[in-house]
Amino acid sequence: MQSIRDTYQQFIDDLALVKTTGDLENIKVKYLGKKGPIQQLMKDLRDVSAAERPIVGKEINDLKELMTSRCCQLESELIAKEEKIQLANECIDETLPGRRSFVGRKHPLTQTLEEIVSILTGMGFSVQDGPEVDTDYYNFEALNFPPNHPARDMQDTFYITPHVLLRTHTSNIQARVMEVNKPPIRIIATGKVYRNEEITARSHVFFHQVEAVYIDDNVSFSDLFATLDLFLAKLFKREVTTRYRPSYFPFVEPGLEVDVSCLNCQGSGCQLCKHTGWLEIAGAGMIHPEVLRNGGIDPEKYSGFAWGMGLERLVILLRGIQDIRMFTENDLRFLSQFTR
Ligand SMILES: [Zn+2]
Repeated sequence: MQSIRDTYQQFIDDLALVKTTGDLENIKVKYLGKKGPIQQLMKDLRDVSAAERPIVGKEINDLKELMTSRCCQLESELIAKEEKIQLANECIDETLPGRRSFVGRKHPLTQTLEEIVSILTGMGFSVQDGPEVDTDYYNFEALNFPPNHPARDMQDTFYITPHVLLRTHTSNIQARVMEVNKPPIRIIATGKVYRNEEITARSHVFFHQVEAVYIDDNVSFSDLFATLDLFLAKLFKREVTTRYRPSYFPFVEPGLEVDVSCLNCQGSGCQLCKHTGWLEIAGAGMIHPEVLRNGGIDPEKYSGFAWGMGLERLVILLRGIQDIRMFTENDLRFLSQFTR
């Protein structure tokens, strides 16, 4: 019992000298470690008479618990003290102005794309996705591109293998959708498309397309005109005059180019419309019977329209952007101008 009291007294004396958490760690090892007095006392317990053993054993355990709790208490005091010292040593100038945090915003293409999707889904279209790397079949053959069509040429298309390519338009999506869905089909397809073209202010090797497809009983030109006119009026938030000119795309028959009256001069002629009063905005047409047939849809029973537009071109017109390359240069001076 005397050894127990001596050990405790010595521990208290040692503890009084502790100044840092490092010192405390040494004390813990010294008293509570494997070679410390607590372990020794436990061993010495063998020499105590059987009658006294439980009493002495309890004393040793109480001592151990007391030491542990004193160490714990001192440790939290020391940690708090050391943190305070550390903070005081760090130089804080409270007069410095705060750091400004910058709010991110969506890319101008994303902003317009989201607006388009919102308008068209509101008109009953659903969004469909498809692969950017696709086969010649879905990108060309199913869409009635004859084997010698110039768009298949190496000049325009990035081929990965002779039959696999980077899609040149989002129409590969309609070819895939027709295969697995029966009319009525009312979809929009959006995404990146790739062309092997020279990168200039007006053209790029990749850009985005938005395409709408509607296939059902008795879909006619008037459905196409009405849907597109309504969509454009909602998009530009004003009455727009449209002009449809005959054109050729292999997957539609007949095909059309769609112009809108210039958004800037309302038709009187300006630099934006190159003094024509019109802006070319979309390609459109009635889906070619061969394309329907390739998709497993009977062209005698169903008909459909499709129209598509380049997203970059649209945003260029809407926002007065001079150079298509700006969209992909990640220049914050450019991107931060588009606050919606
Ligand atoms: Zn104009």
